[in-house]
Amino acid sequence: MKIQNIQAPYAATIDEVVEQIQSDTDEGLGQDEVIERQLKFGKNILQKQKKKSVFLIFVSQFLDPIIYILTAAMFLAFIFQNWIEGLAVLFVIVMTALIGFFMELQAVRSVEALQKLSPAMCRVLRDSGIQKIKSSLLVPGDIILFEAGDVIPADGRIIKSNSLAIKESALTGESDQIDKTAEVLQNGISLPEQKNMVFSGTIVSRGNGRAIVTATGNHTKIGEITKLSQEAEKSRSPLEKKLRKLSRKLIWLTIILAAITALSGYLQGKDLVFMIKTGIALAVAAIPEGLPIVSTIALARGMLRLSRENVIIKNLESVETLGEVGIICTDKTGTLTENKMRVDSIILQEEKIKNSSIARDGLACSKAVKDQILKIAALCNNVGLDEHNSGDSLEAALIEFIKEQKGNVKELRNNFPRVKEIPFETERKRMITINEENEKYLFCVKGAMEAVVPHCNRVQQGNRIVPLPNKKTWMEMGEQMASEGLRTLVFAYRNDKIKRTDVGDDLVLLGILGFEDPPRKDIFKAIQTYRNAGVKVVMITGDHPKTAQKIGQEIGLLTPETTSENIVTGTDLPDLENCSKEEKSRFLKADIYARMIPEQKLQLVKFYQGNNYVVGMLGDGVNDTPALKKADIGIAMGIRGTEAAKEVADVILMDDKFTSTELAIRQGRDIFDNIRHFVIFLLSCNLAEIITVAIAAVSNLPLPLQPLQILFLNLVTDVFPALALGMGKGNKNVMKQPPRPSDEAIITPELWRSIAMYSFSIIASVIGISVYAAFYQDYSNAIINNMAFYTLILGQLLNVFNLPERKTSFIKNKVTRNLWVWGAILISLLIMVLAYWIPFLNTMLSLIPLSVNQILAVIIFGISSVILTQIIKRAGGII
Ligand code: ATP
Repeated sequence: MKIQNIQAPYAATIDEVVEQIQSDTDEGLGQDEVIERQLKFGKNILQKQKKKSVFLIFVSQFLDPIIYILTAAMFLAFIFQNWIEGLAVLFVIVMTALIGFFMELQAVRSVEALQKLSPAMCRVLRDSGIQKIKSSLLVPGDIILFEAGDVIPADGRIIKSNSLAIKESALTGESDQIDKTAEVLQNGISLPEQKNMVFSGTIVSRGNGRAIVTATGNHTKIGEITKLSQEAEKSRSPLEKKLRKLSRKLIWLTIILAAITALSGYLQGKDLVFMIKTGIALAVAAIPEGLPIVSTIALARGMLRLSRENVIIKNLESVETLGEVGIICTDKTGTLTENKMRVDSIILQEEKIKNSSIARDGLACSKAVKDQILKIAALCNNVGLDEHNSGDSLEAALIEFIKEQKGNVKELRNNFPRVKEIPFETERKRMITINEENEKYLFCVKGAMEAVVPHCNRVQQGNRIVPLPNKKTWMEMGEQMASEGLRTLVFAYRNDKIKRTDVGDDLVLLGILGFEDPPRKDIFKAIQTYRNAGVKVVMITGDHPKTAQKIGQEIGLLTPETTSENIVTGTDLPDLENCSKEEKSRFLKADIYARMIPEQKLQLVKFYQGNNYVVGMLGDGVNDTPALKKADIGIAMGIRGTEAAKEVADVILMDDKFTSTELAIRQGRDIFDNIRHFVIFLLSCNLAEIITVAIAAVSNLPLPLQPLQILFLNLVTDVFPALALGMGKGNKNVMKQPPRPSDEAIITPELWRSIAMYSFSIIASVIGISVYAAFYQDYSNAIINNMAFYTLILGQLLNVFNLPERKTSFIKNKVTRNLWVWGAILISLLIMVLAYWIPFLNTMLSLIPLSVNQILAVIIFGISSVILTQIIKRAGGII
């Protein structure tokens, strides 16, 4: 018997498939059977990506230009029999590789762990009950249930379908939806023709259905297509690529400078072997270790931090892009509002009944109209039907309303069984069901005003049905209701002798219900923060413009200065690709887009991107998926979002909180700032080292650093403070600045100027102390060397405090608040003191005891480098 991947299930009847696969369409599989099958068939996952093994991560540390250069330097040192230098370089290599290895291992593992936090879920019938389980736990024979918005979790033969349509573009590339049925088909047909099958990874775009799983994991069609042997693509974030490029450039620059220094020293008559040693040490010291890996670490840490705030970021690149977001497109219901709906008022027979009278008297209208509304509300409603997920809060509010009005949903549904459903779609904005009523048919409709009222030609008044001459008055009253911020829903029906599915023009209008959905409390503040941060928030909603406007005012999206120009209705939206200049500037200014259909959402994303915005897009429905995919950052809601939206999104807000996007953007900005600080620090220190040694080599100043001193310096001052800078908590002002343009270089020309200035100050203090020691104090060369060495270390360590911007205080800023930085400085100073005390080390580094005065001079000159930079900075010389 073959259970997994049976042959041509589409050509077999449902009973045949069920028998072959040994399942039960009414009860589903039993728990014991499930466990047995899970052991036999494994997990329902695609093994398209091989996990990066620990070994591979370790090896990859050595496949780096930085390590190549260090290794070359090591061999060179050994060839010239500079054993100690060679060993020191070896030590540097091992340290660099180990730090890189542990950091990357942690980053990779935390990214993997985070990705598991939002597993794909599905609904399944087991042991006669419907359960929600992780899709990875499905087995062949399981009965799965799905509806619009779900991602099909495995391949299956449809056993029940209701207006079911599926988008199979993931599999076939075809973007049109395909109508699906449960009927038997002939053998040998192609995959797109297999209309009674559902395939893993495809998206339910309409209706609902059930299927029996015929294949899981790699046995599914999508599994067959994906090449298993494919090695996980090594995708590097744009930032990592930029940093690698920068580090490659720096390596070459370092080598050239080191060679020039060594050569010019030699030409000045200095000892060749000493100059080679110096050249090697210089190259090793100036190479920017840690530069390529820092972005991975910083981004992974960002991911981790955000996950604690219930924001799941699916890939590292997104953390980076978040910092560049300039516009956030968001829907309204549930994101900006609570999604806790309640019927507030109702318009019947052209008069409005306020919620207070609804509560007091029951519906203050004729019993016949009331009963009919409650009937349509119960029948044309999917909440509580076992086939459905019952996520629609509007429909849930209707059920509540029926109960308040003493209606009986169950009884109504039993008395008038549903024959057909034409599900709600954002494009049509209405839902229709056809139910049996005394051997005839009741055609029930509920939907948006413009989707229902034009199709009515009659209205019910008491027990009478009279012609409807005044559609306009109804529309105006509905609009008035919408302008109070209420979500409006029109009810209509028709009695048919035969089963008609067309909406026609002969519906009987019953009334309009207004639903209250209050704005979320924290949104107002978030919108203000975004305004300060130069991030534009745009509401894109399927709702009525008046409803959207009222909510927009309440949350502060619309200001008193806003005009009606700032609200655009979907029906007025022209082809955005070819709009006039005036239109373009209007659309760029607009804050609200109402009555929008999903294709227009996509168009709008493209429009903003074409106008140099990095776009963040929030969405939850299956129809939002193209726009979510197209946006630079697609953000899906964890609770309310459909599986389809979650799958394509880059970010998932697990608690559905709009305000979390602010945290994410802040984090993205912080991380970039941290990486920038890291690079600036590293470059300015390295530059200072190279130039100091170069000056020493070509001049006659007695400050030459010993090669081993240079290597030691490299370990002490580069690594720890730089890494600490990469871990900073964030600048308080980060959300008071406009977003960073995505094409901005890590180091802008202005920052290059700052780097030059920082290194100049360090060099000046080192040369300063040498001149002081040599010419004013007449110290020995050994002492001058030691004083220069310590001053360089101190100048470099204190250089971290130069990094914050001119605008911020010197005492209270991002760097001084970063405890890692203080820790790093302490460790570095400790290592320095140890090197001074430990006999073996101090001989190797040619360190001799210094007097208190000499130490004092070192401290003064070291600090003066920071003072010098700060004076120039505060005077406006650099940023
Ligand atoms: P937003 O994008 O802000 O979340 P929305 O997507 O909720 O808004 P839609 O769901 O497209 O907007 O709803 C548009 C209109 O369709 C509503 O104003 C309402 O009149 C109608 N509508 C919404 N849900 C249903 C439903 N389940 N059945 C019938 N009509 C509905």
